[in-house]
Amino acid sequence: MKQHHYDLLVVGAGPAGLAAAHAGARRGARVGLVDAQPRAGGQVWRHDLRFGVPAMARAQIEGLEAAGIALLAGREVTLADPHRLLAVHAHGAVALHWRKLVIATGARELLLPFPGWTLPGVTGAGGLQALAKQGLPVAGKRVVVAGTGPLLLAAAATLKRHGATLVGIHEQASTAQLHGFARQLWRWPGKLAQAVALRAGLAPVPWHRQSTVVAAHGDQRLQGVDIVTAGGPRTRVACDLLAVGWGLVPNVELARLLGCELDTSCTHPVVRVDLQLRSSHPDIHVAGESLGIGGRDCARIEGAMAACFALGDVRGGEALRHRREHERAYAALLARSFQPGEQARTLADPDTLVCRCEDVPMADVHAHPDPRQLRLVTRCGMGACQGRICGAALRELRLTSPSTSPTAVRPPLTPVSLAALADASFDPYEPGKP
Ligand SMILES: Cc1cc2nc3c(=O)[nH]c(=O)nc-3n(C[C@H](O)[C@H](O)[C@H](O)COP(=O)(O)OP(=O)(O)OC[C@H]3O[C@@H](n4cnc5c(N)ncnc54)[C@H](O)[C@@H]3O)c2cc1C
Repeated sequence: MKQHHYDLLVVGAGPAGLAAAHAGARRGARVGLVDAQPRAGGQVWRHDLRFGVPAMARAQIEGLEAAGIALLAGREVTLADPHRLLAVHAHGAVALHWRKLVIATGARELLLPFPGWTLPGVTGAGGLQALAKQGLPVAGKRVVVAGTGPLLLAAAATLKRHGATLVGIHEQASTAQLHGFARQLWRWPGKLAQAVALRAGLAPVPWHRQSTVVAAHGDQRLQGVDIVTAGGPRTRVACDLLAVGWGLVPNVELARLLGCELDTSCTHPVVRVDLQLRSSHPDIHVAGESLGIGGRDCARIEGAMAACFALGDVRGGEALRHRREHERAYAALLARSFQPGEQARTLADPDTLVCRCEDVPMADVHAHPDPRQLRLVTRCGMGACQGRICGAALRELRLTSPSTSPTAVRPPLTPVSLAALADASFDPYEPGKP
């Protein structure tokens, strides 16, 4: 197995990780940047097969080689012991040794169960956006976009660009909530301009407020959805695809595997860091959405800050503090303005699957209120996604809390081939004793 040694290793090549890697390289460190995706860019700058990536991202990604940063793309860190991370790829594994580590593993979508949500044709809003960028043909398909938050508009814009027929955007927040959000945006002029441009580009698409998709229908795949708008009657709308997203959930699993403490005071745990973005592990700093959902600009600032502090450039890190606080204030506004409401929390009926990996219906969840018992009896959360989807949904539905649901994670973080395990000579049951 190949061994790589770095002064600064960054996990996650989204905006936060890219900024951390560049800041580290500028300070003379030998930097490695590892990402599970085949290309750098993370979620927001995911490579679009037809349209590429925005200029800002291109400069950062194409500049990696010139900056001397080793990009290890298509390698997912799934195993770790105190001395190294193991990143697996299609044919084996590589061992990554680090002096300082920056975790920038970003966030994933929050999906909430509702009748019909497991039908083919139903995806997350960001999920369908990603699929379209990666080549799924959506041209001419009738798409409904629903849920809450700015990701709905971003996803709709991508789908429109790829030729989809947008039937409607159904935002669960009320007009008053949206106006309250918009009234604050003057404090972040860049985001205001972005929101106006997005909205203008989607002008002909019906945009419904206080509107929720309550069920999806179809024989073998999606054929239509039921929608309730502002307490009105339930109406059925024909469509081929439904992109429904309820926000984002921080990816904290790698930090947890490495023993970093989590802050469980919010619905979805985030990694606990000090003012220098240092975790409870003295050599591990964290940046971007693993610290809470904050958006691209916040992630970039935090990435640079984390690398500065990790490498001992305290002045460089401190110089960014004010900008970080400004972006975190925007994050707080986002969180206040776009939360799944009561209706979204009560969509599932007793037969609706909650854990789609292990086919566990809502009735079973109610029958076993203790999370440990639920897992032991039903295998809820023990399938391929290891509770990343149903665990977050159950927290959001207030059926478990971060303090009662287990935050411990077991290696490997995601399924790995036996070939990779053998290549790594790693015993997942005895971490620290390779
Ligand atoms: C599906 C989706 C679509 C989005 N689309 C938009 C959009 O269109 N516009 C917008 O403004 N915002 C969008 N966002 C929000 C956006 O992701 C964030 O604002 C921003 O990208 C956060 O940057 P980040 O660097 O913290 O994380 P991310 O961009 O999420 O990058 C994290 C990276 O870490 C990698 N990673 C995670 N775990 C591991 C591991 N164990 N091993 C190796 N690599 C790992 C991931 O592959 C990913 O590339 C989207 C979010 C999601 C989840």
